[in-house]
Parts: sequence; C-alpha cells; structure tokens
Amino acid sequence: MSTIVQNPKAKSFETRLFINGKFVEASDGGKFDLISPGTGEKVVEVSEATEEDTNTAVAAAKAAFPAWSALSPQEKGVYFKKLAVLIRESHAELAELEALSMGRPVSAYFESFVAAQTLDHYSETGYDIMGASSLNQKGYVTMTMRQPYGVAAAIIPWNVPVGFLINKTAAALMAGNTVVAKSSEKAPLTSAKVATLVEKAGFPPGVFNIISGHGPVSGSVLSHHMDVRVLSFAGSSKTGRLIQEAAAKSNLKSVLLELGGKSPAIVFSDCDIEKAVQKTAFSIQFNSGQTCMGNSRIYVHESIMDAFLEKFHKALTVASGDPLLPTVNHGPQVDVIQYNKIQNYIEEGKKVAKMTLGELPLGHENGFFIQPTVFVNTPEDAKIMKEEIFGPVVSVNTFSTEDEVVAKANDTEYGLYAAVFTKDISRAMRMAKRLEAGHVGVNCTSPTTFPDVPFGGYKSSGTGREGWKQSLDSFLETKAVLIAVDDE
Ligand code: NAD
Repeated sequence: MSTIVQNPKAKSFETRLFINGKFVEASDGGKFDLISPGTGEKVVEVSEATEEDTNTAVAAAKAAFPAWSALSPQEKGVYFKKLAVLIRESHAELAELEALSMGRPVSAYFESFVAAQTLDHYSETGYDIMGASSLNQKGYVTMTMRQPYGVAAAIIPWNVPVGFLINKTAAALMAGNTVVAKSSEKAPLTSAKVATLVEKAGFPPGVFNIISGHGPVSGSVLSHHMDVRVLSFAGSSKTGRLIQEAAAKSNLKSVLLELGGKSPAIVFSDCDIEKAVQKTAFSIQFNSGQTCMGNSRIYVHESIMDAFLEKFHKALTVASGDPLLPTVNHGPQVDVIQYNKIQNYIEEGKKVAKMTLGELPLGHENGFFIQPTVFVNTPEDAKIMKEEIFGPVVSVNTFSTEDEVVAKANDTEYGLYAAVFTKDISRAMRMAKRLEAGHVGVNCTSPTTFPDVPFGGYKSSGTGREGWKQSLDSFLETKAVLIAVDDE
C-alpha cells in the first residue's frame, strides 16, 4: 500500500500488482509517478510491471485455467455476484480515485453502476454457453462444442477504466478463461482498488490478475505472449495496430479491437432543435471530450445554423474546477501530454477556421483544463476534421442536401458512432442505412448506448463487437465433433 498525498479523505490506497491472488511490488521495485491532472502535482507512485511480472501473471492464469474452466456457471457466478456488491459499495471511493487520477468529476461518475450491472448479468449467463447438434448428414450425428481459449488478456484505456476492466474480463471469465488485465498508466488506481475487491470476493488465485504499467513493457509483453490466446483491447487506433501486429508475429491470438472515433452528428431542419443542441453539446463536453464516440463533427442544415450555434454556445457553459467537488461538471484533460496535443489541434484549427467559442482562462492555472472549443465551417480536409482530438473541441459545419452530408460524414477512416436528428422517420432510416458506423443514434447521440446492443466500430474504429449478446462469443472457441453412427 502507498500513502495518498492529495486526498485528505482517504488514508491510503492500493498501488501494487495483483498476481496469483497476492499483492506484490514490481520484481525490480520499479514505480511510475501518477500526476493529478487537476493540480499538476504528484499523487502517488504506482508499481510498473516488468516483463518478468507480466510472464508470472500469465503463468498464474495458465495454471489456474483447468480448475476454473471446470467450474459450473453457477459456481463461477457466485464470485461475480460478490464482486458486484463490493463494487457498488465502493462507488464513492472509486469516484474519488478516478477524479484524482484522470480528472473525471465525481458528479459524473457512473462506472461502478455499469460494472456491477455487467457482473450481475454475466453471473446468470453461463448456462447460455452451448453448442448445437444436427442429424443432417446420413450416418452421422454432428455437434459443436463451445470452449474457452485459456488465458485471455485485457488492455484498457484511461477514459472509462472500471467500465472497460469489468466489461472485458467478466465475459472472458464466465466463458471459462482466466485473465490478465493491464490498467492504463494514466488511471491505475481504480483497477488496483478493484483488485482488492477481487481478492475479497474470493476468486481463486491466478484466475483474475490485474497489473499496472505502460504499453511498453507489460502491454507489449501481453500482446506478444505465446500463452495468451485471446486479447481484448480498447484504446487508440495506433496502439490497436501495434497489438494486431504483435498477434500476427506471435501466436495469431484472437484480437478484439475497440479504437478511436471522429463521430458525426447530423442536424436536419425538421428536428427538435433544443434537444439536438443539448445532446450534441453534452456529447462533446462529457468527460472533457475524452470519449471515443463523442460527436466531434456536427453538420447542421444551413437554414438553422445561426439558431443552432447561438443555443449551442450557451449549452457549452461549464462549471470547471476541482473534480472532487460535487458542483463541478468539467474536469481537466487527463495529463499534460493530452493537454498539449489538444492545444496544438486548437492552434491548427485557428489557421483554417473561425473559432466561435474557447480559450477563456478557466482559472485553474496548474491543472490541465481546456474550455469547450467550437470551430465553424472548417474545411473538410483540415487536420481537425480528420484526426481524433480526444478533447472538448468540435467543428460545426453546414450542409444543404442529404447526399452531400452523407458523403461528408462518411469521409473519415473512423466509424464508431453517427447521429441523426430529424422528425422524418423515412429520412432517419435512409441515413441509418447509409452511415458507415457501428452505432447510429436517431434523435440521440453518444454517449448513449446500452449493454444489450452491440458495441464496436466500422473501418479503422475497430474489429469485433462487444455487448451482452456478443461478448461471450468473442471468448469461446468452436469445435465441430462428427460422430459416425452404425445404423444396424
Ligand atoms: P492508448 O492506445 O494510448 O492506450 C490504451 C492502452 O494500451 C493503455 O493501457 C496503454 O498502456 C496500452 N498500450 C500502449 N502502447 C501499447 C503497446 N505498444 N502494446 C500494448 N499495449 C499498449 O489509448 P488511451 O490514450 O489510453 O485511450 C484513448 C484512446 O482510446 C482514444 O483513441 C479513444 O478513442 C480510444 N477508446 C476507444 C474506445 C472504444 O470502445 N472504441 C473506448 C475508449 C477509448
């Protein structure tokens, strides 16, 4: 355990690796500094998993696999139910830890509810895992068996850490795999806290390992590991490509990738403009714009652009400040790297488009705060229209026809989420069909999504789908069994 520096409410919190049911320091004693984005000051030092630690975690998971995969769904479900209760009880602490590490305001913390709900769901789904049988072939009974891969790895980002940690690992574990999860170096504290709850819930040693560290070393070791048979990743498209490459160079492990986005929202003149404004503004401001599906490109019909913009600017009025304060709804960007990256994009934007909102000093000089920033009528080929900014920066452009806006909306390598605001149901359905995105919201936009709909991206926004109906499948092999039957 390490002593907390910043948070006066908590005395200490976990910062070690959870391997084979025990909390351990890194084998070489290595640690990295966690900086609070709200103040720019060091919060604490966190264990940095070495290659040896990562290999030890995979070996522990491999050793635990036979016994875990032999448990009945009901037996596995008991641990899930306990963990769900413990996560719900830890809501306030998880919210504070996230505010300290990645700056999400405690007022906007929701992940404990989503994670607990996901665990409750999977605790009851194990009996759905089954193959099929057929008498189609004369002289044979054929059947399929669904079986776990063995060791599954989860590599998660910092923007929704507990949500991703549980979403990926719950499905893998209920399918019978054992798991090594790596948290993000930018938000390691809630994953380490969840590790203490995994221990309390009594998961057998080695079944659910949680380590912390940077991409190189531990993330890279996991993605190259010959004993990791399936890997579920959420993060940037750049890292996703590296992971796909590592899988190809090692054991062709099955890889699920949830990557970046540049999501369009299209606002037609017949929509409820108040709702369109409120929802599109929330989408780009929520989590200080650090949402993979945030609508960072808004296309507004030319006839309502002025009215839309006036309301949109007002809707982007934020209460920024210390994310631990319940009155704050706009926290800092996650770290100085992300802050500088966003500022560079804003400078790029100013060269090519009119900035109509942004750059007010938010009054917290040492933190990494950025005011919601709006550019208007940005050229379609500008950098800020093509690249993921991952901050509270949005371009609002006009359009006149459906064909024109579909072409513009689809002119991106990303395809995570698209939104359409219109009261015309036929137009909405035409758009839903034509937009190249894993999600299409009609009269709603991101972050609206539900656990029982598939989540994932078209094009370079990812491969595979997650969701209550999809995820178990991603962690199961399929075996065909052919039984020759003597007729006599
Ligand atoms: P990132 O790619 O920098 O890091 C994600 C994780 O990968 C971290 O745990 C990191 O340590 C690890 N990593 C880094 N280099 C690695 C390597 N070479 N090998 C293995 N692992 C490595 O992404 P981030 O900055 O943490 O998150 C922001 C990005 O994630 C954005 O692009 C966002 O759009 C995307 N994202 C996507 C989804 C989705 O569901 N589609 C959800 C959340 C975030």
